[in-house]
Amino acid sequence: MSFLQSMFSLSGKTALVTGASTGIGQSIAVGYARAGAEVILLGHRDNLQETADIIEQADGVSHQVIIDLSQIDSIKEKYDALLSDYQIDILVNNAGIIRRQQAVDYSQHDWNDVINTNLNAVFVLTQEVSKNMLKRKQGKVINIASLLSFQGGVFVPAYTASKHAVSGLTKAFANEWASAGVQVNAIAPGYIATNNTQAIREDTERNESILSRIPTGRWGQPDDLVGAAIFLASASDYVNGHTLVVDGGWLAR
Ligand code: NAP
Repeated sequence: MSFLQSMFSLSGKTALVTGASTGIGQSIAVGYARAGAEVILLGHRDNLQETADIIEQADGVSHQVIIDLSQIDSIKEKYDALLSDYQIDILVNNAGIIRRQQAVDYSQHDWNDVINTNLNAVFVLTQEVSKNMLKRKQGKVINIASLLSFQGGVFVPAYTASKHAVSGLTKAFANEWASAGVQVNAIAPGYIATNNTQAIREDTERNESILSRIPTGRWGQPDDLVGAAIFLASASDYVNGHTLVVDGGWLAR
């Protein structure tokens, strides 16, 4: 094995990636498989086959698990039934939703859905997965945060609250588990072309204003996150509680 392979290879590792049907989760799942990991694809409906097919074409191995992460009360039961037989080395908490509405009109229903999926599920699923990691004294948890872990955003109060909290929770978990050999970090993607951002990309004025602020002058692609995700899953044993921004320079501006 070359020096680079031994630094970054995920061979022999099992990774669980939530929200692996599309977008950033799909790219990370495929990237991990290409780096040698066996990947468990988690989605909330039966639409994971496309990702599984891409992985198979790359000679990788994947498994599919259906769990609706917005249903907080059933995550532990589903984990016990579907995931407890796997020895998970890497957990990527990627699944997330966004609902847009002015704060004054924001519904309790949308608030609860976003907070449950983006934050509460991260807490509950990580608790479950970490038990085995802590026992084995090894593991990497990677949470997908956002630029809205740092900024307020417009018309997305629940999303902003959830992503600020994800960044804080990353540090809280990291502090408790660093000495037990489990690293917890986050990636904050900038503006990435996925379903999540389709509405703002279709709004010409908003799209132009976003593009004009990104130093690289382009939207990110889901594959732009793969290098950071592999690094945090491999050669990052002394990186703890960090939120790594991958944003084409947005926050530097
Ligand atoms: P996306 O294309 O909408 O993908 C979201 C993924 O989460 C999909 O696989 C979706 O499944 C899954 N998901 C949604 N609700 C779920 C639930 N209740 N249970 C299980 N899975 C669920 O969005 P994305 O842009 O790739 O977003 C991925 C992560 O990156 C999110 O946490 C998002 O907040 C974050 N992020 C994105 C951007 C960006 O610019 N795109 C920027 C910063 C952070 P279905 O497709 O079946 O609904």
